[in-house]
Amino acid sequence: MPIFHLGLIGYPLEHSLSPKIHTTALSACGLKGDYSLFSIHPDDKQGLKDLLTRVRSGDITGLNVTIPHKQNVIPFVDDLTPTAKSIGALNTIYFRHNKLIGDNTDAAGFLADLKKFLTTETRRHGDAHVLVLGAGGSARAVVYALFNDGWNVKIAARKIEQAQQLAASIASDQLPITKIENLQSQVSNLHLIVNTTPLGMSPNVNQSPLPENLSLPRHVSIYDLIYNPRETKLVRDARSLGLNATTGLGMLIEQAALSFEIWTGHRPSREVMRASVEQSPVSNH
Ligand code: NAP
Repeated sequence: MPIFHLGLIGYPLEHSLSPKIHTTALSACGLKGDYSLFSIHPDDKQGLKDLLTRVRSGDITGLNVTIPHKQNVIPFVDDLTPTAKSIGALNTIYFRHNKLIGDNTDAAGFLADLKKFLTTETRRHGDAHVLVLGAGGSARAVVYALFNDGWNVKIAARKIEQAQQLAASIASDQLPITKIENLQSQVSNLHLIVNTTPLGMSPNVNQSPLPENLSLPRHVSIYDLIYNPRETKLVRDARSLGLNATTGLGMLIEQAALSFEIWTGHRPSREVMRASVEQSPVSNH
């Protein structure tokens, strides 16, 4: 029976939930293996190269990649999957057919969890409108996923140029873009708002990306990518208005499960993976 040596590249990594999620998946599938943390400084290009050599040699089966290396590592792989190429970032590495491949499971992981979360009521809208808050790394995967799923996507960011670049690289015709400060006139026809900014993430748990006085439509759903804390101010405020709202633990689990499937060929139970970290107090990855 093969032994699966898995791991995560990032910096810093002290509070990562990934070892718990993946070792739970290994034992749930009856597989042998381990999941290590490889903390590599953003300037340590040689450290990245050396680690990837271990994937080429088979010493490591597969790696996840997180901040700040999701783009740094691209020059060191041989090929990107079409998804990773379109998003411009990778979160999963493996060696296949003599090539080191970079893939991205964030987009599919987000979409899988979004579909579980949305009520059939929201899904029934043929012409669904979504506002994505933020234009950073995770926004790229989220916008890619939503755009390819047929949503009308609008981006709200504080750096308009960054949002324009994102929109141009993912959608051939430009997506509408707005300043995150001027939201009131943008929300009336929305079915979904997705937060990809870190506003509200621990320890700044009293922040929200939406202004206090914003009046939201009655049927809008809120998906906050943050999963630490498990209920953000954005989600708490939305729920107190009776809106459907969630934080991003489900996305974290889905993207992990999809990477695990690529490396091992086994489909782990999302419920078992989720239960392993449901109560964990602190995490960033
Ligand atoms: P990132 O690349 O740094 O992007 C963050 C974005 O938010 C940038 O556009 C940034 O704008 C914007 N932003 C930051 N502070 C802001 C503020 N005060 N007002 C308005 N916009 C602001 O970070 P990321 O990797 O996308 O991660 C963002 C969040 O998503 C984190 O909390 C992370 O934990 C979470 N996340 C969750 C999952 C999951 O699986 N659930 C996956 C990935 C990320 P500037 O460029 O102007 O700073």
